[in-house]
Amino acid sequence: MFQQLTALPADPLLGIAVAYRQDDNPKKVDLGVGVYKTEEGNTPILTSVKKSLQILLDSEESKSYIQARGNQAFLDGMEKLVLGADNPLLSSNRVESVQAPGGTGSLKLGFELIKRGNPNAKIWVSGPTWANHNALIKSTGLASEEYPYYDKVNNQLRADEMLEAFAKLGKDDVVLLHGCCHNPTGEDIPADLWPKIADLAVENGFTPFIDIAYQGFGTDLETDVQGVRHLLSKVPEALIATSCSKNFGLYRERTGLITTISESPVAAGIALTHVLNIAREIYSMPPSYGGATVGILLGDEALTTEWKTELAEMCARMRSLRALLVDKLHARDVDQSFDFINRQNGMFTFLGITPEQVQAIRDEYSIYMAGSSRINIAGISNSNVDYIADAVAAVLKK
Ligand code: PMP
Repeated sequence: MFQQLTALPADPLLGIAVAYRQDDNPKKVDLGVGVYKTEEGNTPILTSVKKSLQILLDSEESKSYIQARGNQAFLDGMEKLVLGADNPLLSSNRVESVQAPGGTGSLKLGFELIKRGNPNAKIWVSGPTWANHNALIKSTGLASEEYPYYDKVNNQLRADEMLEAFAKLGKDDVVLLHGCCHNPTGEDIPADLWPKIADLAVENGFTPFIDIAYQGFGTDLETDVQGVRHLLSKVPEALIATSCSKNFGLYRERTGLITTISESPVAAGIALTHVLNIAREIYSMPPSYGGATVGILLGDEALTTEWKTELAEMCARMRSLRALLVDKLHARDVDQSFDFINRQNGMFTFLGITPEQVQAIRDEYSIYMAGSSRINIAGISNSNVDYIADAVAAVLKK
């Protein structure tokens, strides 16, 4: 049977990670995979998370399955974090959440639920979007199309075209929006556009599906989801896939949740039965550790305060690295302005250089980034920023 298979090409981004590891240039720089790193290039366990994990280890008495929908303290804490503790939606009985393996698992449950609700639904993704969005939609068997999002030439949002595209949508359409810190562009939907998107969703009946993978990585935990909260307050139905990989640094623990907002409590209860049934068919039960850890952390005031401080430090570091990179590039008298990097949010930006220039930087300087010129801002450090700026300036001036 397996002889029928032909090998697939390596995932481009994971291929870059392998090439980076094999490169013996001591000056090599990894700006590829989206993982937060310190100045020293480490991805440490947050202190608040480690303390929460220790509490879990000391108190855990069984390895029996947890309940199918996941850890209740985790689900309650995360709903409050995303929606805001005083959000009237929380007491409306229209909101249901299920713990899932990471943001990816949450997205998959969401797409499968959409397919059950409407097999003819079309998912609209931003052009461009995180590559795995397309893979997940395709594997679910749903149709998808791109809406205009990022102008690569002028490094800005295609706001008018995006709204024009949304104005043409209807009840069979689902719009996948990045809540904040858009991956791969770093270009977010500004505060004044969210109400316009909300109005269009209400008027035309399309369903928003919000992917929140970087809450707290843009400006802060509250500001980052203000637009999302406004949108959710207006629409009858929505989905939210939330990842704890980045803001809790729980990457390998595969921690996330899918939240459905339904038109009525009855519809919400029905949607929940389907999400649980879909999960049962794919992996049966959620993993415990990540959810239990976040549940303990968010249930403890002191640990939550400590976590917020650690998160704010990561966020501030990425902001300052953006500013540093822009200054260093401009100091090298390049023709173009890189000011857009400062306006953008989160871990990523497109440098806006060609695939050939990306390859040249890799060959000549051992600096690794996605072919699209997407860089992980957290891969920059005070000690490598001059080297990176030299390389970019050199290929631009060729
Ligand atoms: N959505 C987006 C936009 C992402 O960038 C990521 C992580 N790269 C995820 C979802 C999912 O992350 P995970 O499955 O690791 O939680």
